[in-house]
Amino acid sequence: MKTLKMEKNVLELAESINQDLKASKDMGLLKCGQCGMCTSTCPAARHSDYDPREMVKRVLEGDEEVLRDDIIWNCFYCYTCHSVCPVNNSPCLIIQILRQKSIDDGAGLEKVASFLAYGDSFLEFGIGSIPHDFFDNLLEDFGDGWLDLKLNLDDIRGELGLEGYVLPEKALCEIKDILEKTGFKERLDRIRRFKNEANTM
Ligand code: SF4
Ligand code: SF4
Repeated sequence: MKTLKMEKNVLELAESINQDLKASKDMGLLKCGQCGMCTSTCPAARHSDYDPREMVKRVLEGDEEVLRDDIIWNCFYCYTCHSVCPVNNSPCLIIQILRQKSIDDGAGLEKVASFLAYGDSFLEFGIGSIPHDFFDNLLEDFGDGWLDLKLNLDDIRGELGLEGYVLPEKALCEIKDILEKTGFKERLDRIRRFKNEANTM
């Protein structure tokens, strides 16, 4: 009796990206014609070995190793590729989803561990604020003017006619709910465990 050998679906990775919450419904990943417009306009490609066209090709070929490739961390989300793609594909969004997958896979944990405090800020305040860990660096880069802005932010906002930036309790609860239901909090906890383990080694 002959047995049928089932081939792995080569588009499994691409399809999982298309189904991700971050992907827009009409994102043209499967329509990519490898024209190279994204790469020709990508600043990260100009200054490193990163190549968005190649990254999309690897995704379409089902190359899961791309999740463990440092190259996916070179993009800095300028969205130029997103705006020039003739088939409405978005290497920028694909990279964001690949990074999420890389974190879930474990390979990307090291890359994001030092940014954990940013995530905690979203959980605690519902907004991304600069974590204390980075204050010294910012002070060095921007000088006393930055410190003055930081210390007197509420007064400055008041002078400009702006309200305080602390979110109302109801909005904060809703944001926390979203962060839990979308897996953000769980991912953050995983990064925290990784960081704690790394610190004790
Ligand atoms: S610009 Fe769009 S179609 Fe062209 S290679 Fe990049 S992702 Fe593919
Ligand atoms: S978003 Fe990333 S991949 Fe797209 S052009 Fe900018 S640096 Fe390149």
